[in-house]
Amino acid sequence: MQTSILAADKDPMGAAIADYFETGKAGTLRVFSSQFDEDEIPVRELFRTYGRMPALEQKALQLAAGNILDVGAGSGCHSLALQQMDKTVTAIDISLRSVEVMQKRGVRSAQAVNLFDPSLTGRFDTVLMLMNGSGIIGRLDNMPLFFRRMRELLADNGCVLMDSSDLSYLLEDENGEVLIDLAADYYGQVDFCMQYRDVRGDSFDWLYVDFDTLSLYAERNGFRAELVAEGKHYDYLARLTPVKPE
Ligand code: SAH
Repeated sequence: MQTSILAADKDPMGAAIADYFETGKAGTLRVFSSQFDEDEIPVRELFRTYGRMPALEQKALQLAAGNILDVGAGSGCHSLALQQMDKTVTAIDISLRSVEVMQKRGVRSAQAVNLFDPSLTGRFDTVLMLMNGSGIIGRLDNMPLFFRRMRELLADNGCVLMDSSDLSYLLEDENGEVLIDLAADYYGQVDFCMQYRDVRGDSFDWLYVDFDTLSLYAERNGFRAELVAEGKHYDYLARLTPVKPE
């Protein structure tokens, strides 16, 4: 698992966020994957305000309480909304340029640090991971490491609020039947690479995980997963809580 932040010349999303912040518009943030056709992320949507957020994200912001950690905070959209709700939040991101934008936008506590860097310490009542927040876990193999890290960062009675999607609908054949190749890697493990203007990032692993698989890994690693809400497109919000030792 990487524990570092991104080099400036390998940070296309940060470059796009900085451009949009400074000029009010941005070029195309392109997304490549060995599994999917080329796609793009509308940069404007990274700056969404509370009213424009999907219901699952609004729900997560309502539930977030106490000392909150916004993981992979991007432009700071969720942190700013939380501050407006008079909640206390620390935003972290591996993109230094994004963190600089967050600070300029008024996020009071924003830090360029990797979630898995041991120099990040603290006890949080809510760890927030949004916009397919499970992506940062990368691969199912990293689940034990992820849950250990959450135990370190969570205060007593704290929880993780994370959204994700079940990608099995992509495997449906023309009859609507899902054919899962059990010998293949888990279907939610995706590789992505982004490009903005001449800034091309390295390829990275990004995990989409269905709720049952998440629950299974949670249970194996001393956590309980609850389905808080379901979205319109195979997406959902989960709450992960450590199970106290007897
Ligand atoms: N939460 C934001 C941005 C989502 S994009 C939103 O909903 O708009 C995912 C973000 O996670 C990116 O800004 C990326 O730089 C950051 N990120 C990826 N891996 C990370 C890690 N290990 N630790 C902290 N941030 C990470």
